[in-house]
Amino acid sequence: MAVSARIPDTAHMSTHCYLIALGSNQRHVRYGTPAAIVRAVPEALETQDIAVHAIAPVYISTPVGPSQRVYANTVLLAGTDFPPPQMLTLLQQTERDFGRIRRGQRWRSRTLDLDIILWSGGRFTCTDLTIPHPHFRERGFVLDPAADIAPHWRDPVSGLKIRNLQARLKKRVGKA
Ligand code: ATP
Ligand code: MG
Ligand code: MG
Repeated sequence: MAVSARIPDTAHMSTHCYLIALGSNQRHVRYGTPAAIVRAVPEALETQDIAVHAIAPVYISTPVGPSQRVYANTVLLAGTDFPPPQMLTLLQQTERDFGRIRRGQRWRSRTLDLDIILWSGGRFTCTDLTIPHPHFRERGFVLDPAADIAPHWRDPVSGLKIRNLQARLKKRVGKA
């Protein structure tokens, strides 16, 4: 379910490149389904001085069991001059713009989650931000779309490319 991959003329002008993971598992009164929400994100970011270079296909999954909740996940590549702390602030504002209400708990249902997975500056850590995202290597819903648009981006912690991390995870899951 490809959205689109676009390379804007301004792509080369940004200081930093980011790989951002998008996730939604709750409808929004105006945007609609989780898939519609994540598809609306690039346009919202582009109004805030972030150039979206590419967006992966949107992956839809329905968990097994009684829950009817649908998950929509994808990743995008963005160019911007914002350093990581400002980028996080902007992404959190965007989550709120899409109706996310934080009640202090991680992983609860939400209209939009925007996580910084990697950036062109390698490792980055401060009190409320860790890049690379500490859990992305174990998440198929991040690695699968990331391998679609950035298979050769190397994780500075493990030294492995995204497509190798994806293959490693698939092998592990297969064995489980
Ligand atoms: P997870 O981070 O395991 O995917 P989550 O996305 O549900 O969980 P949130 O509630 O969105 O968690 O964020 C919790 C905190 O994580 C944020 O307040 C933010 O400061 C912190 N954080 C640390 N590293 C990152 C990162 N790389 N990207 C986004 N948020 C991060
Ligand atoms: Mg998250
Ligand atoms: Mg988050």
